[in-house]
Amino acid sequence: AVSLPKPIDLRSLREALTFEGGGRSTAQHRAEKNARLITAEELSQGLAADELYPVFQPKVNLRSGQVVGCEALARWDSPTFGAVGPDVFIPLAEQSGAIKLITLRMLRESMSMARRFLDRDPSFVVAANLSAMLLTDTTILQQIEQMLDETGVPARSLMIEVTESTAMSDVDRAMDVLLRLRIKGVGISMDDFGTGYSSLSALARMPFSELKIDRSFVKDCLVDPDMWKVVAASVAIAHQYKMKAVAEGIEDAETWWALEELGCDIGQGYGISRPLKLDAFESWYQAWNADTPVPVLTRRVHA
Ligand code: C2E
Ligand code: MG
Ligand code: MG
Ligand code: MG
Repeated sequence: AVSLPKPIDLRSLREALTFEGGGRSTAQHRAEKNARLITAEELSQGLAADELYPVFQPKVNLRSGQVVGCEALARWDSPTFGAVGPDVFIPLAEQSGAIKLITLRMLRESMSMARRFLDRDPSFVVAANLSAMLLTDTTILQQIEQMLDETGVPARSLMIEVTESTAMSDVDRAMDVLLRLRIKGVGISMDDFGTGYSSLSALARMPFSELKIDRSFVKDCLVDPDMWKVVAASVAIAHQYKMKAVAEGIEDAETWWALEELGCDIGQGYGISRPLKLDAFESWYQAWNADTPVPVLTRRVHA
């Protein structure tokens, strides 16, 4: 028998709601006013009604300041609940099975985003998140390959960020899928490194090309020596395994500089840009790449 997914209590998850722009949005007020259980059924309806969409957050080379690509992050603007963050609906989707549809949608949008940017920069890479549980789905590999063929996006322009919220049921199968993607040229990123289930044994076994240091370690690394040690050790581990070290959650210039000095390769964070809708991302990209005004954060790295 299939156990029914647990509904999620919005009230207790208020903190998990993520909103762009900071402060308390009207959407957030709406979400709180309507705070009650979101059911799997309602998520499915939202998906069917096209209420889910991606936003894109840039990833930049910490040494040169150049944009290397972006990460696609899912958003849900529900007329009933307001803006619901992925920390709320992704776990629900994983329980209900809706994660498959959400992921396929996000992959497709990521590839069409990649196509648009490849004309400007042939080395641009778009990253999509993939719940590790989907790696044991027998059709996901074919679907990714087919989408790459259909969209004409080269495999090297796609990165899969593997997020592991629950232990994998079939590690061999998952490993097989990741290997095949890697052989094809798709980049594989170990997301949220250092938290949850993403472990050192997985690193040794899986063909990761990038290690993403979780923002919980990055955000206070300049004031908390214990966090700094975790970040420094993670960068070293990444390089030992010939992976790129990526830091998420860079909110200020000082953190950027310190990470650059440490040898961390790529960075992502609100200090560089919040996740943006496609149009806003394009404007941000142009402004960032324009020589004047030089973006604050790149001033020193160009010096
Ligand atoms: P993640 O993959 O680790 O993504 C990074 C999260 O950190 C994003 O939150 C991003 O908005 C946030 N972030 C980036 N820089 C900063 C910063 O400087 N400060 C702060 N405070 N936050 C920052 P978001 O978009 O709420 O996504 C949360 C998580 O939901 C993601 O964590 C990922 O695990 C999951 N997720 C999002 N979209 C998808 C998806 O399409 N599929 C799957 N399976 N999971 C997704
Ligand atoms: Mg990610
Ligand atoms: Mg991450
Ligand atoms: Mg994270």
